[in-house]
Parts: sequence; structure tokens; C-alpha cells
Amino acid sequence: MNAENQLQFAVERCPDPTPADQIATRLVNPAFGRVFTDHMVTIRWTEGRGWHDAKVEARRPFQIDPACAVLHYAQEIFEGMKAYRGDDGKISLFRPQENAKRFRASAARMSMADLPETIFLRAVEALVDIDRDWIPGGDGSLYLRPFMFASESFLGVRAAAEYIFCVIACPVGPYFKAGKSAVTVWVSEQYTRAAPGGTGAAKCGGNYAASLIAQTEAAAKGCDQVVFLDAAEHRWIEELGGMNVFFVMDDGTLRTPPLKGTILPGITRASIIELARHEGMTVNEVAYDFESWRADAASGRLKETFACGTAAVVTAIGQVRHAGGEFTIGHGGEGQVTQRLRSLLTGMQRGKIADPFAWVHH
Ligand code: PMP
Repeated sequence: MNAENQLQFAVERCPDPTPADQIATRLVNPAFGRVFTDHMVTIRWTEGRGWHDAKVEARRPFQIDPACAVLHYAQEIFEGMKAYRGDDGKISLFRPQENAKRFRASAARMSMADLPETIFLRAVEALVDIDRDWIPGGDGSLYLRPFMFASESFLGVRAAAEYIFCVIACPVGPYFKAGKSAVTVWVSEQYTRAAPGGTGAAKCGGNYAASLIAQTEAAAKGCDQVVFLDAAEHRWIEELGGMNVFFVMDDGTLRTPPLKGTILPGITRASIIELARHEGMTVNEVAYDFESWRADAASGRLKETFACGTAAVVTAIGQVRHAGGEFTIGHGGEGQVTQRLRSLLTGMQRGKIADPFAWVHH
């Protein structure tokens, strides 16, 4: 038996779990990321020893030394995925192996410990299992946040020799305000998110820290999300603060920025590409520049634009604001292609329609 299968999870149930009636109350319209379940999973990694001390335990604060490496050098990565409760009560995850793979890729880019995909999956499944009562039905889901940080106490710029991997979970409803059929975005022409050779393709906390100023600017302009342009020419559309982006052209083709290391390889993005092709659509992974976006929206060559990601699922972009003005996409609401792809994807995730790709994991 290899080391990854030998790792046993010790289970220490929360001594004062939330009573069922209180869980039920907390599952009603929870604000995104504010309500947490009773447990967490932790696994430690130490140089020379590997992964050890796997535990499912009550969710509690970490004790962190002021010299803890993550506090100084930001060696931290994370994932975002969801567990769903189908109408038949069956619980499922959506392509969790892809999150496990991306987590390994993020760890490699940030010089962190390599977590085998089987351990990642077992940890996520252990938390979903112990906190299954927290998974909302209907349109809600349980958002899972696996993450890892450098836990060694030392000051010095080198890869840490100790890490903690952890999974926490929160019941969530829609990411954007319920009932919003399309969102408004702000195009940041001043700030960029990631440069070639940088960490754009890794899901590391630092990318998000660097994006907050642009997201704050977007909110100040009355927008829901920020759109980043490329760092070299400030011309090519890359992605949103926490989502990938697709364009629907008037010839029925889809277009999305290519993966060149500066954007996050979204699992929803990859799924939409496969799904759209399966539906007979042409999808081009080619760069699209901001000027063309604006001109094509005005001429009608561009019909729809949508954002996609685990949290936002598939959300239409109706309005685009930038330093020089604003423009509307299509009729400003959710277009037909966006609506169709959204219902196919969510239908599959919730077990309402067949899943020809075997993406749903029970
Ligand atoms: N881009 C960024 C910057 C993100 O944070 C996310 C959310 N993880 C995405 C794209 C979408 O990725 P996924 O579809 O895997 O959630």
C-alpha cells in the first residue's frame, strides 16, 4: 500500500454541534461565505516526513506563530468547489478531480508540498460526509474551500519546510444578488492581475490580494465585478476578478481568452467549452481585445457575454463600464445562449438532466 492510501483520518466530532433546527435556519438565504459548518479537515506536511496527522475535527481557530511564513511571504493556495443535494436527496460533487489537479499545479508554482489527488479527494469527501446536514437543497449548495499555507515559523525567503492543508465549508446561495439576470462590470485599465511568467494560472491568495484595489474601484463605479486586461499591452481581455469570460458572436460561435499562464484555468470554463462543442457550437480559444468588444457590442456582431466560475456558475454580463464611458451588450439582460448553457450546466450539476461526460461524482 502506498503512503497516500495509508494516511488515516482521525475523526473527532464537534462536541457541541449546531442543533438541526438552527442548521435549517442558517440554510435559508445564507450570505456567500459567512456561514460555516461545524467541522474542518486538517493534514500536516513536514519536510522529511511527508503528509501526516490527518484529522476531521471541530472547526476552530489555528494557533499561528507571529513568524509563521505565510504571514510574511504569502505562500498560500486554495480551491473552490461545491457539493450539491439533488432533488432525490443524493449528494454530489462536480469534477472534484479537476480541483485536485489544479491544486497540485498551484502548489508546484508556489514551491509548496505536493498533495496527492487521492488525499485531496478523501479530505473533501470526509468533510462533506460529516457535515452533510449543512448541504442546502434547491438552488443552494455547500461551497468547499480546500486551502494550504506555509506554517513553518521562520523569517527568510525560501520555500517553507512545513505546511497545513485544510478544508472548510459554507452553505451558499447565489453569488450575485438573487434575481439579477445580468451583472455590470468595470474594465480596469490601470491595474492588471497577472503578468506573463507570473502566478496568474495558480490559485494563490496573493493574486486576489493584488486584485482587490481594482475590485474596490469596480464597486465604487457601481459594478459587480472587475474585468482585467493583459499586463503587457493593456489591450487583451483576460478574465474577471473571480471568473472566466465568454463572448457569443452573431454567427453563433463562442470565444474565450486562451490559457497562456496569466488567467486561471477555470473548471467551469473547461466544462462550458466541452458542453458547447457537444451541443454543436464552435468555440474559439482566441484573444479578444477591449476595443473590438466595444465595437462589436455596438455593431451587433457581439450578441452576448457571460462570466463563469464555481461561485457565479454562468452569469450574463449586461453592462460594461470603463474610464471612457459605458456600453450595453445585446438587450442588457441574459441572452439565449447564456441561458441555455447555464441551464444545461446547472441541470447536470443537480442531477436534473443526464450527464454524458461523467462529471458528476457521487
Ligand atoms: N478566474 C478566477 C480568477 C477565479 O478566481 C475563478 C474561481 N475559481 C475562476 C476564474 C473560475 O474557476 P472555476 O470555474 O474553476 O471556479
